[in-house]
Amino acid sequence: MTATTDFPSLQDIAQTRLGTSLSRRQLDAFAWYASELAEWNERFNLTAITDPAEIEVKHFLDSLSCLLALKPRPGDRVVDVGSGAGFPGLPLKIVMPWLQVTLVEATGKKADFCRHIVEGLALESVSVVHARAEEVGQMAEHRQMYHWAVARAVAHLQVLVEYLMPLVRLGGRAIAQKGETGPVEAHAAEGALRLLGGRVQQLITVELPRVPETRYLVVMEKTAATPSEYPRRAGVPTRKPLG
Ligand code: SAM
Repeated sequence: MTATTDFPSLQDIAQTRLGTSLSRRQLDAFAWYASELAEWNERFNLTAITDPAEIEVKHFLDSLSCLLALKPRPGDRVVDVGSGAGFPGLPLKIVMPWLQVTLVEATGKKADFCRHIVEGLALESVSVVHARAEEVGQMAEHRQMYHWAVARAVAHLQVLVEYLMPLVRLGGRAIAQKGETGPVEAHAAEGALRLLGGRVQQLITVELPRVPETRYLVVMEKTAATPSEYPRRAGVPTRKPLG
């Protein structure tokens, strides 16, 4: 593994804004991840963000902003739904190597890229599931098995909660990374969350350097078991959102 780009400011920002200090090895891992993302992106459309400085802030740092709400204990399992090129799940794994992480991604090439990063960085206890969240949420090995579920830029919250909440165990949390519409989406998703056995616990604002938009973490807690009919078949949550 050769590091081709360096990110001195990722360290500064992670430390000052998130209270997380990164090792040389972790910084090298992020640098290699960024260079592979740029290279794969020339062949497959993985991300619209390709400039290294932008990758640093809008992918890596934004992923790490989950740490403002994500407080896992050793042995906790985290699922990232609609992970795309690995965000936020893989940056979280890089900074917390002991975490058990599952990435769920519907597009084959994106799942392949995630596997490539996992292998290249020799990350242990990461599984990449190439499937739709609606299917995974009905599988016994995943249903209500996770202490934490995270997602960024996957669907409107009213739809997203039907992907996330069935995967979360009782007492666990789901974190949706949202833009300026976070508070409005949180309000609109309240009815759907009630049906799925959850409630909004907290809204956390996130300010990133060089990003004018205020971002939000919508933190939801699992308060009751999700009824077995949820998630519904693939595509139904989008066509007929709950609530
Ligand atoms: N989370 C990544 C990020 O923030 O960079 C990717 C965001 S991308 C806009 C949305 C991703 O969610 C796509 O890769 C898409 O294939 C995936 N996706 C959308 N609906 C999904 C579903 N029902 N199950 C699994 N993956 C899904």
